[in-house]
Amino acid sequence: MFVSNNLDINEKGNLTIGGIDTTELAAEYGTPLYVMDEAVIRESCQRFKNSIDKYYGGQGRVCYASKAFSCMEMCRVIADEGLGLEVVSAGEMYTAMKAGFPMEKIGFQGNNKTDEELELALEFGVGNIVVDNISELDRLEKLAAEKGKRPHIMFRIKPGIDAHTHAFIKTGQIDSKFGFALETGEAFDAVKRALSCKNVELAGLHCHIGSQIFDITPLEEAAEVMLGFIAKIKNELGYEVKGLNLGGGFGIKYVNSDDPKPFEMYMERVSAVVKSKCSELGLSQPFIYLEPGRSIAASAGITLYTVGARKVIPNIRTYISVDGGMADNPRYILYQSEYDAVVANKASEERSEKVTIAGKCCESGDLIGENMPLQHAEAGDILAVCATGAYNYSMSSNYNRLCKPAVVFVKDGKSRIAVKRETLDDIIRNDI
Ligand SMILES: *Cc1c(COP(=O)(O)O)cnc(C)c1O
Repeated sequence: MFVSNNLDINEKGNLTIGGIDTTELAAEYGTPLYVMDEAVIRESCQRFKNSIDKYYGGQGRVCYASKAFSCMEMCRVIADEGLGLEVVSAGEMYTAMKAGFPMEKIGFQGNNKTDEELELALEFGVGNIVVDNISELDRLEKLAAEKGKRPHIMFRIKPGIDAHTHAFIKTGQIDSKFGFALETGEAFDAVKRALSCKNVELAGLHCHIGSQIFDITPLEEAAEVMLGFIAKIKNELGYEVKGLNLGGGFGIKYVNSDDPKPFEMYMERVSAVVKSKCSELGLSQPFIYLEPGRSIAASAGITLYTVGARKVIPNIRTYISVDGGMADNPRYILYQSEYDAVVANKASEERSEKVTIAGKCCESGDLIGENMPLQHAEAGDILAVCATGAYNYSMSSNYNRLCKPAVVFVKDGKSRIAVKRETLDDIIRNDI
């Protein structure tokens, strides 16, 4: 009935998440409101971990890509599930550190890390720094020498695989700002350099070909290409790289027409490829890392809004305006992403019309979606947009000086604040 199976309808006809009435959440905490179902987050973590155990003898680690949704409470849940964490900035690293996340299980990504960020990573003792380019390697080596450290590094590689996804979220092809190219010899030269560096240890290679990927084949191909490169390094430089990070990017269901493969199927097929390639190439099986972001957070979340204006433009369209929009969910304006929406207090009624859901920001493109089947919505109704747990809060802004919504976690029929709603004083906090 709904795109996420933690959503249901109670006896009052209201939408529930994790068994809690969403209209009660809206009344208690106000709107717009992000709601995260902790049970869904934990189940996803366990599914990933169990699949590595089942198909790859437990020789791997799942590292949640915290850019999908990061706050201290999320870091605590992820730590409690025993996963590692990927961060892409000092801010995400600091959030994890303050939440007590074990730093040795953190990977630090990014195509343009600053010296300050690299220093922080060395100071905090993050487990792996994923080096993106040669100038970063130069800077890291120098900073590590100054601090008397020898960090573990991985190299971000562009395996030259097309992930069949939106151009903005494709990252594996040669024309990408991320990583070293294989075709040009750039990646091989970088490995040579790293092996001669005293102050870094080459612990692995990394690739991540894109996001919201439904097709397993490009992910298998990427694994093959990476193992081919590990074999080349072994044969020509006599060094066998021990770690292989295969990235994230597993697709999720936003609307009913989305058909993501179960993660277990990915793990089964990719493990088989890794094992057979290793025996073909005479390699020992690497320790693998996976970095799911969206597939852990997205389906756990919904956003609740209060409906305001209803604007019927005859023969053109009906706009339903809500008290949030691109400031809390910029994915439509970025990628024309599709969502499923429900009037939470009329969830058992028929979705009798097709509407455009608009935000309150001063941009015509500020929409949650177009042509969305919805119950008849009027001012004062509560609208729930589904599967907003990833890349919504984390991409939110204060555009139009809107206050960022609160984030509430629900679990076992109870709710708690994880991130407080911003106030008007937060908006001017840093103004002089
Ligand atoms: C964004 C990103 C991820 C996570 O991608 P999802 O699509 O959210 O799973 C993993 N690894 C890297 C390097 C990324 O940039």
